[in-house]
Amino acid sequence: MDTTLPIHQNPYDIESIRGDFPILSEKINGHPLAFLDSGASPQKPEAVLQRMEHMYRHEYANVHRGAYTLSQAATDHYENARQTVARYLNAASDEEIIFTRNVTSSINLVAHCYGREFLKSGDEIIITHMEHHANIVPWQLLREAVGIELKVIPIDDAGNLMMDKFEELLSPRTRLVSVTHISNVLGTVLPVKEIIRLAHAHDARVLIDGAQGIMHSRVDVQELDVDFYGFTGHKLYGPSGIGVLYGKRDILNSMPPYEGGGDMIDRVTFEKTTYRETPARFEAGTPAIVEAAGLAAAVEYVESIGIERIAAHEQSLLDYATARLSAIEGLRIYGEAEDKAGVVSFTIEGVHPHDISTIIDSHGVAVRAGHHCAQPLMDRFDLAATARASLGMYNNKSDIDQLVEALEFAKDIFN
Ligand SMILES: *Cc1c(COP(=O)(O)O)cnc(C)c1O
Repeated sequence: MDTTLPIHQNPYDIESIRGDFPILSEKINGHPLAFLDSGASPQKPEAVLQRMEHMYRHEYANVHRGAYTLSQAATDHYENARQTVARYLNAASDEEIIFTRNVTSSINLVAHCYGREFLKSGDEIIITHMEHHANIVPWQLLREAVGIELKVIPIDDAGNLMMDKFEELLSPRTRLVSVTHISNVLGTVLPVKEIIRLAHAHDARVLIDGAQGIMHSRVDVQELDVDFYGFTGHKLYGPSGIGVLYGKRDILNSMPPYEGGGDMIDRVTFEKTTYRETPARFEAGTPAIVEAAGLAAAVEYVESIGIERIAAHEQSLLDYATARLSAIEGLRIYGEAEDKAGVVSFTIEGVHPHDISTIIDSHGVAVRAGHHCAQPLMDRFDLAATARASLGMYNNKSDIDQLVEALEFAKDIFN
C-alpha cells in the first residue's frame, strides 16, 4: 500500500480499475454485466491477459530443461513468478513456494505427504463447520488411510467461529488444525492468528485454506507464523490451472514427494531414486508455465492498487449491499459475523435459489446459487442452497442496484 499519501488524496479509482477488465464491457442478455460471482472466480485484468499472450507468442518453451535462449526465458519467467509470490506472502525464501494446480491440490498435497508420513491412528485433525469440501474430503481420505480422527469447531448462528469450543477441542492428540481464512459462503473472517497461536501452544501444525483470504486481505506468512498456507491463482485475478502451497522449508523437506516423474528427482536408477529438495520435489512433470507468469502479473496488478485499499472498497460495498438487500421483503441473509468480507449469501421466501440466479441472469446479473461446495455448512443452517453475491475489486454501487432491481423483478414473477 502506498503510505506516502493519505487515502483521500489517493482515491480508489473504480472507473479506471473497471477499464482494466475487458469482460466488464460485455453485454449479457442485452444488459450491462453485473458480475457478482467473484467468490467462485474473479475476472482477469488486461495485464494478466497480455502477459500470458506475450509469453505464448514470444517466450514460450519448456522450463528447467534446455540451455537455449527461449527455454532460459521461460524458466526465468517461471522462477520469477515464484519469487513474486514469495515476496507477496513475505515467505522467508522462494523455496517455500510450491506451484500446484489449485488450492484443492495444495491441501491434498499436505494431506498426502504430511498426513500419511507423520500422522497415525488416533491422531486428531481439527477443521471448522464452514469449510469448503476441499478442506474436508482430503482429511476424510486420510482418515480412511491411517485412521486419524476429525474434529469440527462449531459456529454460532451469526457465522462466528466458537473459539471457546476450539480451545476445548485442542488436546495433546491434536496434530493439525486446518481452517479456512475466510468463509466462501458466510464471508466470516476467521481469527487465524489466534488460531495459529493456540494450535502451536499445543504443538499442532496449522494449514490455512486461503482461497478467499488471499483475495480480500493482506497475507504475511511469517507474521502469521503459519505452517502451510494454500491458495488458488484464479481467485487472485490470475489464470486457472495454477495454485500455491506455501510451507515452512524444514517441514517441506521432511515430507516425501507427492507425484513421481521428471524434474523432481536428483538421480534415478532402476534400483533407487533420490529426490530433490523443495520446491522441485513437489513439482513433478511440466508445470503450468504460462499460468505461473499470469499469476505473477496478477499479483503485481493487485499490488499496484493495494490489497488493503481493495479490501476497504469491498467493505463499503458490502455495507451498501447488506443494507439494500435487507430492505427486500422476504430476503434473509446468512452470515452476520462481526468480521466479514465481501460475500453475501441469501434466500428469498418462496423462490428457489437456482430460480433467483436464472431469472436475474436475464437482467445481466451473475450470482451463484447452490451449496457452494459446503454441504455441512448448509446442513448447519437447514438449507439446501443459497444464492450468493460475492464482490471483487471492480464491483460498484450500480452492480448492487442492478442486483436489487433484478431481485424485485424475480419476486414479482413468483408472487
Ligand atoms: C474456491 C475455494 C476453494 C477451491 O478452490 P479451487 O481453485 O477449486 O481448488 C477452496 N476453499 C475455498 C474457501 C474456496 O473459496
